[in-house]
Amino acid sequence: MVEKSRIIAADAAGITAAVARLVAGGIVAVPTETVYGLAARAADADAVARIYAAKGRPGFNPLIVHVADAAQAGELVTVDALAARLMAAFWPGPLTLVLPLRPGAAVAGAVTAGLDTLAVRCPAHPVMQALIAGAGPLAAPSANASGRISATTAAHVAASLGDRVGLVLDGGACAAGVESTIIAVADGRWQLLRPGAVAVEALLAVAPLAAAGEALAATAAVRAPGMLASHYAPRQPVRLGATSAGAHEFHIGFGAITGDASLSPAGDLAEAAAALFSLLHRAEASGRAAIAVAPVPETGLGQAINDRLRRAAAPRDGA
Ligand code: AMP
Ligand code: MG
Repeated sequence: MVEKSRIIAADAAGITAAVARLVAGGIVAVPTETVYGLAARAADADAVARIYAAKGRPGFNPLIVHVADAAQAGELVTVDALAARLMAAFWPGPLTLVLPLRPGAAVAGAVTAGLDTLAVRCPAHPVMQALIAGAGPLAAPSANASGRISATTAAHVAASLGDRVGLVLDGGACAAGVESTIIAVADGRWQLLRPGAVAVEALLAVAPLAAAGEALAATAAVRAPGMLASHYAPRQPVRLGATSAGAHEFHIGFGAITGDASLSPAGDLAEAAAALFSLLHRAEASGRAAIAVAPVPETGLGQAINDRLRRAAAPRDGA
């Protein structure tokens, strides 16, 4: 019989139940400061396989491992001086570092999809910290069906994954609302793999680049294998840069462009990031034939917002 998914409060009793489930090899949807994650113990190959199955995630797309602190990261990956500096500046928080995997590290092979690197992050969310303290490092991709809109509330998780996740810990709406920024660090240099909740400008302030534009070079030797053109996709087509919209479109506004609902009437990018996936879910559920989105500036968190919007608007496989 298929187990029905249960949403429970992320209070002390909820955390105890979630830790028990994780330690027993189960998967749990969990709140983080970025988006909801679908967590399993990183060392448990069967549990990690359950994550891929529940999401319908392709096996070539590796998972981020969430750790308690930089010391725990150091048990799994090699941390050079630059990586240590970035961890000290941004952890706990929404920065993921891709670093050389330590041979023999307690990480199931499927977590890295066979790569010799591992993506690690130390979450700031107290619930996620409590789960890691109880169950050890947790592999946790976003808690949505692969390729679909990410979840920033427990209700989004249940709508996207249905009965494929047995337990959802409800910690309220996610504060940042977009996924972590992912960088690769090697040979004393860093490179952006995915814009996210830490603005690139903030990274540059801590770790300037040797040459202008070096971090953003398209010739990147390292890539995030999961960065597919179509992702975060609602059912309807999505049109970007829309200063006005037709009656058949749900119009997502920003700043002076009001729309049917606004990412941020004040034009605040942090507010817009926090509202982004929620509004995409709302637009999808609106029953309109299409979705139109007002222009969002490319600076600061706008880079992450526009990355998600471009993928939401990209042609879909088989479409
Ligand atoms: P998600 O957890 O769904 O937000 O996606 C995690 C992202 O991290 C995907 O785009 C992965 O491709 C990327 N990622 C995870 N591990 C690695 C790695 N070892 N090297 C490069 N990218 C990675
Ligand atoms: Mg994702």
